[in-house]
Amino acid sequence: MAVLGATGSVGQRFVQLLENHPWFRLHEVVASERSAGKSYGEAADWRLETLLPDFAAALTVKELGGELESRLLFSGLDSSVAGEAEETYAKRGAVVLSNSKNHRMDADVPLLLPEINAEHIAAIEHQRRRRGGHGYIVTNSNCSTMGLALAIAPIEKQWGIDQLHVTTMQAISGAGYAGVSAYQILDNVIPYISGEEEKIESEPRKILGRWTGERFEDAPLRISAQTNRVATIDGHLMTISFSLRQRGADAAAIRAALESFEGEPQRLALPSAPLRPIHYLEEQDRPQPRLDRDRERGMSVSVGRLRPCPLLDFRMVALVHNTIRGAAGASILNAELLEAKGML
Ligand code: NAP
Repeated sequence: MAVLGATGSVGQRFVQLLENHPWFRLHEVVASERSAGKSYGEAADWRLETLLPDFAAALTVKELGGELESRLLFSGLDSSVAGEAEETYAKRGAVVLSNSKNHRMDADVPLLLPEINAEHIAAIEHQRRRRGGHGYIVTNSNCSTMGLALAIAPIEKQWGIDQLHVTTMQAISGAGYAGVSAYQILDNVIPYISGEEEKIESEPRKILGRWTGERFEDAPLRISAQTNRVATIDGHLMTISFSLRQRGADAAAIRAALESFEGEPQRLALPSAPLRPIHYLEEQDRPQPRLDRDRERGMSVSVGRLRPCPLLDFRMVALVHNTIRGAAGASILNAELLEAKGML
């Protein structure tokens, strides 16, 4: 397979997570003309806590748009170029797994989160018929959306959520490799992330909704989001308040629903699937980014502080590793689901 946008924050995570993958082998790395022609070791300013694998360092970076040998493409491309490039490669026959916003809300593209909506892959046939060709695009959500959608999925499923308010505290790796300077973020909180609130307010509705066979039907919950950039490196923390459609839930029942939640990746024992997608933490000062973001190799969401809310029904705190479960790890899990379903 190939990684598009391999030099960036998400691209580096792909290279790291794919090093010893049992099913997929990294064969090509692709980035902009600034990086093309260089070795990956030279082009990527590697910033992860593990060493850059030697085989990846030796690959020559290819320029976006050129012919590729791989049929499976993981995309961590900047959204300014992702839309067109991903469509072009899918038309040429590739399976494109995208982290970018461009195609997430397309009427024929699954916004896949396999613990919640594995059946949305049925839309792929519709996409192929509509767009022609053997290739297709599957997306995963915005990084904060991923944590939010997983944390609320068992609650939405059992009782239905009517209204929800979420405030995020998002790590700097979420802003991309060159995102925020030290001068902007140290000793500071930035109460604005461009486009983020709109994504968090719309994407969970598609993820938690259903594929009718013809189109996606959104889940009816209403969401209000406020987003902040804070000085952590990895891990988006969020505080969530919500009201339920059905009366009668208590905190113990909600906690039990969170703890017992599992989906298709667990049933199929996919290689990147966490044993438990949601970990409920007892301690009253958890989850915390530095302590909890790497739970189950960064593939689980941590939830804590579930308690009654004086305005809505309940409130709680959730944490997601933004570049693993919120991006590269999520795409790899999507690819594993597609492989297990015979769609690669
Ligand atoms: P990033 O660090 O800025 O990396 C962007 C990548 O795109 C780099 O490899 C860059 O290559 C490439 N690129 C930029 N302009 C290009 C061009 N004109 N032609 C070809 N390649 C180009 O961004 P990121 O944080 O990894 O995010 C990548 C995508 O994932 C974005 O759409 C973002 O919204 C999404 N996402 C990010 C996160 C996160 O936590 N960071 C989470 C979920 C989704 P060069 O190095 O050669 O410039």
